[in-house]
Amino acid sequence: MALTNKQYDIIMREYDNIRTANQHILNERYEEVYRLAPEYTEIEQEIINISMEAARGRILGKSTDSSSQEANYNNSGSQGESSKLHSKLSELNNRKIQCLIRIGKPADYLSPVYTCPLCKDSGYIGQERCSCFKKKAIDLVYQDSNLKNITDSENFDTFSYEWYADDNPNPANGLTPLQNARQAVAKAKEFTVKFDEEFSNILLYGTTGAGKTFLTNCIARELLNSTHSVIYLTAVEFFDKLSNKDFNKDYGKSDTSDGFDTDYLTECDLLIIDDLGTEIGNSYTSSKLFYIINERLLRKKSVIISTNLSLKELRDSYSDRVFSRITSAYKLIPLFGDDIRVLKATR
Ligand SMILES: [Zn+2]
Repeated sequence: MALTNKQYDIIMREYDNIRTANQHILNERYEEVYRLAPEYTEIEQEIINISMEAARGRILGKSTDSSSQEANYNNSGSQGESSKLHSKLSELNNRKIQCLIRIGKPADYLSPVYTCPLCKDSGYIGQERCSCFKKKAIDLVYQDSNLKNITDSENFDTFSYEWYADDNPNPANGLTPLQNARQAVAKAKEFTVKFDEEFSNILLYGTTGAGKTFLTNCIARELLNSTHSVIYLTAVEFFDKLSNKDFNKDYGKSDTSDGFDTDYLTECDLLIIDDLGTEIGNSYTSSKLFYIINERLLRKKSVIISTNLSLKELRDSYSDRVFSRITSAYKLIPLFGDDIRVLKATR
């Protein structure tokens, strides 16, 4: 799991807010109890007095302990004192509980309030992140992924092969659309399983409506659920974000920017660029694509690119250096078949 510093700070601020809100609840409960059971204050005051007296006794006792004989005497004496003190305190604590019960409150009504008792709203159990931290991190990576609206139904279990015909093998690899789809899904799954151990990238190419976006969503979901940071952008959005940073003089001003930090494009664990080739291409888009692809290769951060372009069209549309980076460092996964959207509409 890799959260950016900014994401980490957001989560930690959330814990601050939770602790403040819970402290507020506890303060209100105290006020309520003081109002309904005024003797509660008196008991508390008595506990304070006794504790202070005991503390004073200990300090004085210590300072006069000059000879060992005296020390022994004082020790045995203070042991008796301390057990007396103990029973007095537990009696007073019992009275506090009786007070609460009398006004219809549970015995632990004035105990600290925790939203997550496991980590006491700190996010950590020892050095380990608490399950509530992981939950917050997942929510946050989803929020930042541009995949908030990804549906639960888009996952490997629901990937349907019924749309892929089992005839007309593709001359390029000799596989029918169905055989090819099975292979593509297997490779996509392998990518997620080995994500943390093995750096790799995917170019998913093939005909329109063959399920490329669905397959990238399956991968995204799998990795988001294991709190990897994923950013999904269509090619048009991807270049918009970059040109907004480069050409919009108001970029980064909180009231005008869309809040998207283009640093995420090089920092996130997985960047998905969907439908490459649908943007209006020029030397700017080509050089930006190279910059991001190259930067992420250097940082060993994975990229998935999906495109309707053939490899030849890809080479013609972008610079040679983009094409050579992709063909040398990306797994090329074809996905072809009839247009699923058309099939769905006509069934
Ligand atoms: Zn927790």
